[in-house]
Amino acid sequence: MVHALGAQASVTALARKDASLRKASFKENKNISFNKLWIPLSSANLKSGSSAAMHHLKVLSMSVSQATQRKTLVQPLELENAKEPPLNLYKPKEPYTATIVSVESLVGPKAPGETCHIVINHEGNVPYWEGQSYGIIPPGENPKKPGLPHNVRLYSIASTRYGDSFDGKTASLCVRRAVYYDPETGKEDASKNGVCSNFLCDSKPGDKIQITGPSGKIMLLPEDDPNATHIMIATGTGVAPFRGYLRRIFMEDVPTYKFGGLAWLFLGVANSDSLLYDDEFSSYLKTFPDNFRYDKALSREQQNKNGGKMYVQDKIEEYSDEIFKLLDGGAHIYFCGLKGMMPGIQDTLKRVAGQRGENWDAKLTQLKKNKQWHVEVY
Ligand code: FAD
Repeated sequence: MVHALGAQASVTALARKDASLRKASFKENKNISFNKLWIPLSSANLKSGSSAAMHHLKVLSMSVSQATQRKTLVQPLELENAKEPPLNLYKPKEPYTATIVSVESLVGPKAPGETCHIVINHEGNVPYWEGQSYGIIPPGENPKKPGLPHNVRLYSIASTRYGDSFDGKTASLCVRRAVYYDPETGKEDASKNGVCSNFLCDSKPGDKIQITGPSGKIMLLPEDDPNATHIMIATGTGVAPFRGYLRRIFMEDVPTYKFGGLAWLFLGVANSDSLLYDDEFSSYLKTFPDNFRYDKALSREQQNKNGGKMYVQDKIEEYSDEIFKLLDGGAHIYFCGLKGMMPGIQDTLKRVAGQRGENWDAKLTQLKKNKQWHVEVY
């Protein structure tokens, strides 16, 4: 099978060896076959330049020149049949035991903090739709309720329903380690580090993990109009659901969903080393320039027009004319990431609306009423 975008990603991975490999501490489970994975070569293979890896790469390179726009076939297509999204198939009292496939660090050395891409094998037993979340129950005892398990932590799913292996058997998460620094000494206090995020980022291929869900309907991708505009605003791991949307839109060959609209991603992170899935998004820009836009706000590297740090709201302001027109034309707008992102964004939208002689509160009410406004912050 030809997989042009995946091939592009793999070729890029080798060509930009320094940039990509420093980011990838990829631990792959050898028991699970990924003949269609978009990053099929483990960094170990790439590093050693093994002949098998090089052969694979040549085959993929040929496919790039032969068919740059072909998408990846996905299966089982029965996953398209349900009229409603699956919800809470597994509950905290009876979670599903899944298996870790791989854990990959997504960021470079200059990123403040670590974020990992975690692939989980659910064998097709915990199906989900793009934009939903899984719950994870970390192992061990709940310190607040001795004898009982930890509370469930939610994580947005960062893959499509077909997973990164395009076979409907896996789900991927994008998890930032929660690390605690003592405010007085500035030193890390491991005893107060986040339980579940560290468990996930430290897990190894083959490890078992307890999952619940899937949950959430707010961030489902509306597909009734394949020519719709989707404006996605993410900070950090908030990019997770949008990676899922964009793979469905641009990477996968889904017979019942042929996208002809506009997907516009705004991603805010600290610096270039903190960018998440940048190779994947950049490849869509090259292949689908008429249907995809991608704007990055790097708070510690770029300045806004007032000389301050560049946040997503500054990018929104920069393109506010277009964004407001697109919203007036029925575009969907999505926000995902840390709670703290919303006040700054709301202030900016309100200010811009005022400058345009519009009443933001009335406009927001209308956007919500029209189901154009989607927010999931945590
Ligand atoms: P916890 O153990 O719950 O600790 C929480 C915080 O408290 C940490 O920062 C920890 O350092 C601090 N802390 C612990 N003990 C102390 C103490 N004694 N004193 C002071 N501070 C302390 N996260 C992602 O990374 N990716 C996602 O895609 C994602 N999606 C989400 C989607 C939804 C809908 C929601 C609600 C949340 C999402 N989250 C996501 C957040 C996630 O659910 C967890 O909240 C997060 O990973 C932290 O959980 P933890 O178990 O690691 O930290």
